[in-house]
Amino acid sequence: MKRTLAVETVKKVGEEVILKGWVTTRRDHGKITFLDLRDRSGIVQLVYSGSDLKSERGQTLSEARPEAVIEVTGVVKERPASMVNPKIPTGQVEVEVEKLTVISKARELPFPIDTDGYEVNEEIRMKYRYLDIRRARMTRNLRLKSRMTTFIRNYLTERDFVEVETPILTKTTPEGARDFIVPSRLQKGKFYALPQSPQQYKQLLMVAGLERYFQLARCFRDEDPRKDRAYGEFTQLDMELSFVTQEDILTLAEDLFTKLVGELFPEKHITETPWPRIPHKEAIARYGTDKPDLRRDKKDPNELAFAWTVDFPLFTEQSEEDFYHGSGKARFAPSHHMFTAPHPDDIPLLETDPMKVRGLQHDMVLNGYEVGGGSIRIHERHVQEKVFDLIGFTEEQKAQFDHMLTAFTYGVPPHGGIAPGIDRFLFTALGEPSIREVMAFPASAGGQTSVMDAPSQASDGQLKELGISVVSQKKTGGESVYRTITQLLDEGHSEYKTHEHKAVTTSREAADVRHTSLSAGAKAILLYGDGKPLMVVLPGDRKIDMHAFKKLYGIKDLRMATPDEVLRVTSVPIGAVPPFGHIFDVPLYMDDAVRKNDTIVFNAGLHTKSVSMAEKSYENVARPVVGSFSREAA
Ligand code: ASP
Repeated sequence: MKRTLAVETVKKVGEEVILKGWVTTRRDHGKITFLDLRDRSGIVQLVYSGSDLKSERGQTLSEARPEAVIEVTGVVKERPASMVNPKIPTGQVEVEVEKLTVISKARELPFPIDTDGYEVNEEIRMKYRYLDIRRARMTRNLRLKSRMTTFIRNYLTERDFVEVETPILTKTTPEGARDFIVPSRLQKGKFYALPQSPQQYKQLLMVAGLERYFQLARCFRDEDPRKDRAYGEFTQLDMELSFVTQEDILTLAEDLFTKLVGELFPEKHITETPWPRIPHKEAIARYGTDKPDLRRDKKDPNELAFAWTVDFPLFTEQSEEDFYHGSGKARFAPSHHMFTAPHPDDIPLLETDPMKVRGLQHDMVLNGYEVGGGSIRIHERHVQEKVFDLIGFTEEQKAQFDHMLTAFTYGVPPHGGIAPGIDRFLFTALGEPSIREVMAFPASAGGQTSVMDAPSQASDGQLKELGISVVSQKKTGGESVYRTITQLLDEGHSEYKTHEHKAVTTSREAADVRHTSLSAGAKAILLYGDGKPLMVVLPGDRKIDMHAFKKLYGIKDLRMATPDEVLRVTSVPIGAVPPFGHIFDVPLYMDDAVRKNDTIVFNAGLHTKSVSMAEKSYENVARPVVGSFSREAA
């Protein structure tokens, strides 16, 4: 018999069906047990009668705990009128179970998934992202994103666009952020850069004559995370067109997104159509920002206020933050990027007054967020060279873009494009609090990837093959761990005091020489949870409750690290380990009893050196996951 999906049961009253999925909820009523089964289509109620726990059937039932995967054979029945649940599409039926098999048991989940999940600590959500995605809100977001990209593909391919993939291992593509670089093994000492966007490739595809290109492009930028920008990587709808004006690009993007909203977000309404176009100067004067929030009612979750910001100046004053065009010593930096064309009327001003030159840049704004940007590009070699000069490129830097200048000598169509962010649009349209809510496996704000916990160390063998030696401040013994910590605290402008004292190893000894209470000592312990090192911090007078910790964080095997392991992971001996996990690449968990202290004190990598500081600022720097998992030490 073929598997039936939960929603299909309504069409199969009276028939025997096989269902497969997860147990969502379970209600035991003596002789009768109700289970809700969930699959990709939705949920359906199962009724299991009989309570003979000793029979094979009964044993199985007891294992059908929430989130176990089960297979059920049963007959679809109409529910009695009084039991109909109008809230779910299968509310008028239930399946009377004849046979139930538990395909895969499930332990208790580390957090609830029947809520929207905002209340759960994000680090834990990321660690178990595959469970977090089971929650309805996350599933909905990912499905919506898939429908969105499908819609976009159809829309564009119907209009003669060609989808082209461009390299990920490539050369720097300056969008104003830092590059991620990847070492080359075959050419030791050389590096690829991950693309900040396919900007140069898409322009080269215009030289190649494709005329209309798009790509759902992964972009990589090593910049500090913000609410509307993911750390590391994100996806944008990268588009480029030949023989177009700025007007053509705006019209096309506006039409695409208007239709997309109509199709995918029927409950939403667009504040003003056609979208208002606001000159940059006016935006700044009227709203104090180039991405104004033009919603009429900011409390209306269904309002989408699109706008275009246009007529940007081609240049801004260069600052040290302008990576790449980089020294921060030239006067001009591109407002958008260095390939944006100047307004044709302003070309003479490039010689006389560059700051007055308008650029053919356009930003797509939604509810106060910049959700996309683009421009008409330079397609003339001498103009491109002029811009390189103005932004202070050295000959060497110019040489990095020689391929563009060369390409511009072989018949270049005038061209331009735009790149709306996929995640960025979706997060804004849905009003999610962070862009990570619309990504399956985002990196944390600190740059740690979900579930897999990258970045991680390369083995000595790998490094040798690459000809790389890591000049690291960590993992090289107590003195440098101490330096790393004080540096970290300085960078975070935290107030702290350092203490030198005779060597101590236990919390008691430490408290005695420092004349501090035992409980003010923040004791760092290294453990292994399911084979991976982790660190916990407790007050010196308390002990970890292994059982509670396991339960809290869904860990199966938990054990103390051996002294050798402590040395290997932290490079410092037991007793000197400071309560900072991330400097050793291990997750950090803090017992909430530490918070009873206003000030805490800890050995900072050495048996002879301690640091004391406000508990609050410690948390700010160390960023632990906080839970309650200690008991009084005997
Ligand atoms: N390359 C630009 C960006 O990624 C977009 C564009 O100019 O088309 O922001």
